[in-house]
Amino acid sequence: MLLGALLAGVFPLRCAGCRLPGAVLCERCATTLTAPDPAPAPAGVDVLVACLAHRGAARELVARAKYHGERASLGVLAVVMAATWECRAGTVRPDVVTFPPTTPERRRARGFDQAEVLAEGVAARLGLPSARLLRRGPGPAQASRSAAERRGGPSFRAQAPVPPRVLVVDDVCTTGGTLGAAAAALRTGGAHHVVGLVATRRQLAPRPLKGAGRTADPGV
Ligand SMILES: [Zn+2]
Repeated sequence: MLLGALLAGVFPLRCAGCRLPGAVLCERCATTLTAPDPAPAPAGVDVLVACLAHRGAARELVARAKYHGERASLGVLAVVMAATWECRAGTVRPDVVTFPPTTPERRRARGFDQAEVLAEGVAARLGLPSARLLRRGPGPAQASRSAAERRGGPSFRAQAPVPPRVLVVDDVCTTGGTLGAAAAALRTGGAHHVVGLVATRRQLAPRPLKGAGRTADPGV
């Protein structure tokens, strides 16, 4: 705490929305956060709760954690995620909270796995245990892959006994490839009810299609 206070004095926190110093997210900018458009849960995920649209201050909070190693942003997101889960989750109480691990390279570069930090924060607020249940196979991070590659998701396998009801927490859901792959591995490991909770839902820009009068698949 002392070190945190000291660093906050040297490098004051700035709001993800308006950039003013003081807090990770100021009260005014917190009111600008919006819910995402409804979208179906990825295959294998029984229920997906997406808290925020991936734009504005929400996008900046995720980016600060993901690309700039700013862990404080995750604290704000975990609070929003736990509160949203309590409002919107069904009646099935998960046995455990877990996460799809990022690549070892990204974890090393960042100093933490943002999905793990979110999972631990959400679990603590919901009074649930958290555990690392998945191991990630070799392959690039999702953010560096094309939309088509993303839909297939990275490869995961269960590395520990998996309880029947699992809540998977992640920062962003774009195509649902990561959550779908995580759910498949958890089911193979023994889960029969897999629910997802993500901080933001990002919609890919519609792809132009040949021929007029058709709506492009937004790719989520
Ligand atoms: Zn602000």
